[in-house]
Amino acid sequence: MLNSASVGQAESLTKLDRLKSKRRGLMIVLSSPSGAGKTTLTRKLLADNTDMAMSVSATTRAPRPGEIDGHDYFFVSKDTFVKMINEDAFLEHAKVFDNYYGTPKAPVEAALAEGRDIVFDIDWQGAQQLTQAAADDLVRIFILPPNMFELEQRLKTRAQDSDAVIAKRMAKSEAEISHWAEYDYVIVNERLETALEELRSIVITERLKRRRQLWLGPFVKALVSGET
Ligand code: 5GP
Repeated sequence: MLNSASVGQAESLTKLDRLKSKRRGLMIVLSSPSGAGKTTLTRKLLADNTDMAMSVSATTRAPRPGEIDGHDYFFVSKDTFVKMINEDAFLEHAKVFDNYYGTPKAPVEAALAEGRDIVFDIDWQGAQQLTQAAADDLVRIFILPPNMFELEQRLKTRAQDSDAVIAKRMAKSEAEISHWAEYDYVIVNERLETALEELRSIVITERLKRRRQLWLGPFVKALVSGET
């Protein structure tokens, strides 16, 4: 049964929870060479953080089997992509392999304004550009495979790309990996569950950073004045 003290505690917790929601959203950048397990990790992170948003990029590459326009990517023509660049519609954009990829600005700004975290699956070029544009809100995470053999196996198992494309992606992997030290965190994805736990821990820790907790100032003021 609840006594008056525990009722008071329950009320203050609710108030505290409401206060805590007044925080800046994180911009979580995940980069890795293709096949390091980034997509699986991202999906799992989003599954248990339902208020977290995923940034859907625009790309000029053709959809792979099963990919859905507006969900996996916005699949656009090169003309449309150039038009979006000219309209300043991208937060960042880059050429990756032989195609163009870009992060539409508007949904990111909307999510951050609502205090929601937003996850970006972008390459090192995108991470560098976002560092210029929004360093304070950014958490940069690089995912490494445990070894190159594993990486190739994962690319082959995915089997959505031709052998020539896989060979090209393997060649590019080394270049992508060379940027690992530009990231705040590096996760070696040998066991998915461990990597996921590491990823979740990073998010929890980054959310707790003082400068992101906009509610703390008013809370402490009320705390010392005895109002809370
Ligand atoms: P994929 O074609 O395999 O989906 O993606 C190829 C690479 O492009 C991945 O490394 C992915 O992270 C990167 N990428 C996807 N969207 C964007 C984007 O909007 N900007 C940048 N810079 N890279 C992206």
